[in-house]
Amino acid sequence: MIYRASILNVCLIAFLFLHLGVQGQRKSKNTTILIEQPTLKTTPNLVVGIVVDQMRYDYLSRFWNRFGEGGFKRFVNNGFNCKNNHYNYAPTSTGPGHASIYTGTTPSTHGIIGNNWYDKASESSVYCAGDENYNSVGTTSEAGKMSPKRMVVSTMTDQLRLHNQMRSKVISIALKDRGAILPGGHTANAAYWFEGGINGNWISSDYYMNVLPNWVSEFNNNKSVSKYKKVWAPLEDLQSYIESGADNTPYESVFKGEQAPIFPHDLPEIWTSNGDYDLLRSTPFGNSITTDFALAALEAEALGQDETTDFLAISYSSTDYVGHKFGVNSKEIQDTYMRLDGELKRLFEALDDEVGPGNYTIFLTADHGAVHVPAYLKDNKIPAGYLDKDGAIVSLKENIKYKYGNAALIKNVSNSQIFLDHKVIQNLDLSLREVQETLAQELLKQGDYLNVYTAYQLQNTEYSRGIPYLLQNGYNRLRSGDLMAVPNVSFIDYDKTGSTHGSAQIYDTHVPLLFYGKGISQGATNQRTEISDIAPTISALLGISFPNGATGRPINEVLE
Ligand code: ZN
Ligand code: ZN
Repeated sequence: MIYRASILNVCLIAFLFLHLGVQGQRKSKNTTILIEQPTLKTTPNLVVGIVVDQMRYDYLSRFWNRFGEGGFKRFVNNGFNCKNNHYNYAPTSTGPGHASIYTGTTPSTHGIIGNNWYDKASESSVYCAGDENYNSVGTTSEAGKMSPKRMVVSTMTDQLRLHNQMRSKVISIALKDRGAILPGGHTANAAYWFEGGINGNWISSDYYMNVLPNWVSEFNNNKSVSKYKKVWAPLEDLQSYIESGADNTPYESVFKGEQAPIFPHDLPEIWTSNGDYDLLRSTPFGNSITTDFALAALEAEALGQDETTDFLAISYSSTDYVGHKFGVNSKEIQDTYMRLDGELKRLFEALDDEVGPGNYTIFLTADHGAVHVPAYLKDNKIPAGYLDKDGAIVSLKENIKYKYGNAALIKNVSNSQIFLDHKVIQNLDLSLREVQETLAQELLKQGDYLNVYTAYQLQNTEYSRGIPYLLQNGYNRLRSGDLMAVPNVSFIDYDKTGSTHGSAQIYDTHVPLLFYGKGISQGATNQRTEISDIAPTISALLGISFPNGATGRPINEVLE
């Protein structure tokens, strides 16, 4: 089809079919059929990437009846819904999630193996977006000493910039620094994140710029965020919130200064004891601030105002803070998603006004899901629980000492991984592989773990499905540990209140993936898609090179 049209080699050909009967169907007179030239690329004026931090796929269906027409429903009804979209690696946390969405690959390749991890070379913990070589812009604190340097491959935003000789503008925004920095890639014009505290300003790093542009300084000076220092009352009558549990349950954390996790939350009353503007992170107002700032960027940076495709990356972080605090079944999480729907509507309307309907392409996904609070599951007779990680390590060390005469073989435990001291193992003339296997067996005896994989296994076996496939994709030879532990399903290393994430299980991997706009077909699929398919899909749409480490594939049905 495409080749046949290309032979014609014309932009638009109008055929007049007169009295033409096709397979018994009689076409009307003067039917005009437009044959378009095959397009190797779709060039929306703007691509908008939205990441919702900690959004389970089922939030879409669970809160569906509470959504208006202009937000999530606009995506689903008019765009494309990948209903069976998954993270294809563990650990499922924020840094790796944002990096994987934008690089089209997994931690094994892009190197972001956690939010923080134990760095084997420097023998210290490092932060995924931290960089001592750069300084803060817009604050005197250290909150801007950041860069994307630990992500060792390019993003789709980088590829867009390379493709268009850096004429495409890329702006990336999130309350969380890593939620902005990693999507922006190495060549973003700017990434901005929120410094809470007493100022509540948007800041950056001199990796991107030396001073904040005027529009950002004005946004900060106008104290645009102060209007959210108000009471958080439910958006609608709380009695109508039948899609979530009771307002007061033992499965939720409580704000400092409050007696119970119940509405209304009087934010001015508890402001100072909860870190001033940092309090807004754990409320839906953090997402409103993010939309406000994104809309200011849209206008001030004139994004999508010419034919060179620009890219606006937005990550909504507050959903994660609210989920961690109140859990996935709380009234607070329901209210936060009902309000997020309104934020999406506001964003769509601004895009229609300023870029024009049909001139932009937008997608929405999440950086991971979240587990139901295990205490709640247990109370409902569903197997779940809490890991005694410290106890497990203590008894593991005792066993090591008994077996090898030395308890100092373990250097670090983080992200469900154990890092061994290779020097000590060498000095004791032990086989690294044997020590890994012995420790794996010891850890399994404790009963809290479904399985434990050794680095040797992951380096020497090619897994194609199940949990080991996910662990292998999350395993980075240079950066990961010696043992990868898989806790029992719905067992977490976390407080007894609130939800968390990070595992290779379905509740952490299954997240929404929605597309809408220019070049996107209308429909839905139940076929499995993976998070690393997003960047190749957008790259294929734009006709640009895939990110240089991409391992995913374009999702064919999504593209027109
Ligand atoms: Zn996250
Ligand atoms: Zn989180």
